Amino acid sequence: MILDGQKARDAKADILSKKITGFSAVPTLCIIQVGTREESTLYIEQKKKFGAKVGAQVVHEQFPEDVSEKTLLDFIATKNADTNIHGIIVQMPLPKHLNPLVFCNAILPEKDIDGLGAVNTALLAEGKPMHIPATAKGVLSLLNFYGIDPKGKHAVVVGRSHLVGKPTAALLLNSGATVTVCHRGTLDLSQETKSAVILVVAAGVPRLIGKNQVSPGQTIVDVGINTVLGDHLEEEIPKRKIVGDVSFDEVLPIVENISPVPGGVGPMTVLSLFENLASAFEIQTRS
Ligand code: NAD
Repeated sequence: MILDGQKARDAKADILSKKITGFSAVPTLCIIQVGTREESTLYIEQKKKFGAKVGAQVVHEQFPEDVSEKTLLDFIATKNADTNIHGIIVQMPLPKHLNPLVFCNAILPEKDIDGLGAVNTALLAEGKPMHIPATAKGVLSLLNFYGIDPKGKHAVVVGRSHLVGKPTAALLLNSGATVTVCHRGTLDLSQETKSAVILVVAAGVPRLIGKNQVSPGQTIVDVGINTVLGDHLEEEIPKRKIVGDVSFDEVLPIVENISPVPGGVGPMTVLSLFENLASAFEIQTRS
């Protein structure tokens, strides 16, 4: 089975937009962008588009590349106090002089819909999450849409980042899976990945997982987004294309279920962010 994130997202987006229609006001997300990185601008545009589709508002605030920590922190403080703003995210990556965690922790936990601040991280680890990081939530949501229950299964996560690997592992653990987390220091990656029933790959390394790293019956969720040079457009100009961390065509005949890139976890991540915004709205407007 192909785990089609586009299909799952469309189905869940309908449910979300119906829910938002019943709200007393429009849930509003403030996205803070530092600099003009092309990829970040593209991701923000996708979020704006999806927000409009589900009836949410997105306010895009831009700062120059050399903005100071204090200016950003002061700005976040004003948005924390603004009752018309229900979610705040800082678009990553940030320039080197800014520490991302400082800003994640400056956002009120109720408005931290990326779920990356210390309070939300702790709540997830405790098994009582408020806002779950969108990619991790998207992975579980995709599995859930296709009726794949992690409970009692051995799940292996490749990658241990604060953004993806760790929250995905925590969520799988909270769902009753037995979880192994692999990383650059893992001695025998193939042995670990082959032993999984559910394999989530979030390493950012194209073709890390091929036929020698998988086994029959597995469910593979490929989180990786990598830009590589593909076929030639013309003789010398190679086409850029997006691939995951898994050699899709190579493992497809072996495994039971697999999510494609693009069209797998990516669409689920955007959905999850706006699900978090909706619950942030509910939390903040509860009387
Ligand atoms: P990161 O670089 O912060 O972390 C990568 C992790 O993979 C690290 O923990 C590292 O130890 C591990 N790793 C790297 N090479 C490895 C190897 N050879 N063997 C074993 N482990 C290895 O990256 P990230 O922010 O966690 O993102 C991971 C990937 O997911 C990237 O391709 C990123 O673009 C993608 N991503 C996708 C979405 C989405 O919505 N689909 C969202 C966020 C990130």
